[in-house]
Amino acid sequence: MSLKGKTALVTGSTSGIGLGIAKALAAQGANIMMNGFGEKDAAIAEIKALGVEVDYHGADMSRPAEIEAMMQAAQQRFGGVDILVNNAGIQHVANIEDFPVDRWDAIIAINLSSAFHTTRLALPYMKQNNWGRIINLASVHGLVASAQKSAYVAAKHGIVGLTKVTALETAQTGVTCNAICPGWVLTPLVQKQVDARAQKEGLNNDAAKKALLLEKQPSAEFVTPDQLAALAVFMCSDAASQIRGVAWNMDGGWVAQ
Ligand code: NAD
Repeated sequence: MSLKGKTALVTGSTSGIGLGIAKALAAQGANIMMNGFGEKDAAIAEIKALGVEVDYHGADMSRPAEIEAMMQAAQQRFGGVDILVNNAGIQHVANIEDFPVDRWDAIIAINLSSAFHTTRLALPYMKQNNWGRIINLASVHGLVASAQKSAYVAAKHGIVGLTKVTALETAQTGVTCNAICPGWVLTPLVQKQVDARAQKEGLNNDAAKKALLLEKQPSAEFVTPDQLAALAVFMCSDAASQIRGVAWNMDGGWVAQ
């Protein structure tokens, strides 16, 4: 399959799963609009090395005006977005009664509302071309819950719902919308939870990783960004054109229990 001539916008692509997906789409020839915080230069260089056009916009995905500016920048540089990967996300872990209100608001804004904004702004161009792919990075927490993750679980269940509505509204077009629901993936977002566990239970890093995995993920192995990226590439293929509105878990058996 070639995605040559297509443009993919991957939010939160400076790290982790988003970077893995951006690399895999670039390897298929897609031009990439990157976004995210932190060490971005190395990530941009990695994608450029694959020989595609790359641009970057530093929109804060909690701010609708910045999201609009990013979508405009993508349109000016590439004409529009053919493949939208809503991936940026954050986590905070606390009981509901202790959950900081500002963390709740930030998680709902970044993990859920941002996908509404990018989707509403990307759809007109996709519909006009009668081709598009919207891939929402949800989570197993879009399908089942865990204690102390109220905002994250609410946002991820919400994005699975948004995925289904988007799929229905585009059902008779060449635009598809689906969600990917990973189990544990060892990225900076999860390393923070490993560190918290190590500290709380007096474990070393390896023992804390094992404890985290064994609690939920029967395979006792992390899912990798490359495996998730391969699924995203498949969702962009013609073979996947009738996959619409699914919440596809890749989770080492987590949700089978
Ligand atoms: P990560 O922390 O490695 O990457 C998150 C990315 O989002 C980074 O590029 C970061 O800069 C960006 N980001 C954070 N806040 C942002 C903001 N306000 N505006 C713009 N960019 C912002 O995390 P990850 O594990 O790769 O997570 C990616 C997605 O996958 C998230 O939606 C996460 O919920 C989901 N997910 C992760 C796991 C896992 O185990 N790691 C499991 C299921 C789902």
